[in-house]
Amino acid sequence: MGTPKKRNKGPRPKRIPQRMCISCRERSAKRTLIRVVRTPEGSVEIDPHGKMNGRGAYLCDDPACWRRALSGEALARALKIETLPEAAAERLSQFAAALPPIATDQPDDEAQQGGNE
Ligand SMILES: [Zn+2]
Repeated sequence: MGTPKKRNKGPRPKRIPQRMCISCRERSAKRTLIRVVRTPEGSVEIDPHGKMNGRGAYLCDDPACWRRALSGEALARALKIETLPEAAAERLSQFAAALPPIATDQPDDEAQQGGNE
């Protein structure tokens, strides 16, 4: 009758590693974040697989985020360097330019429907 019930602390919060874009500060699972890493050698590289050693920073796959990060100090600060090496900045902006434009979820198919009632 008097069994003391242990208080259940409830479900443990699961720690899902979340990445935040250093440019727009958005945390989103929907968008792909691309890792940029400052290697121990001091160069700045794009690390598509997220496996390189060094200090990493994440950016959306949105070219606008890259441009913003490259034009300001956001990326350098995130990588804990004073300024982004020019060669790296160039490489990153080229990478950003090659990114496919963001596909917004627009119900394109619905508008195209017709005929079949
Ligand atoms: Zn972003």
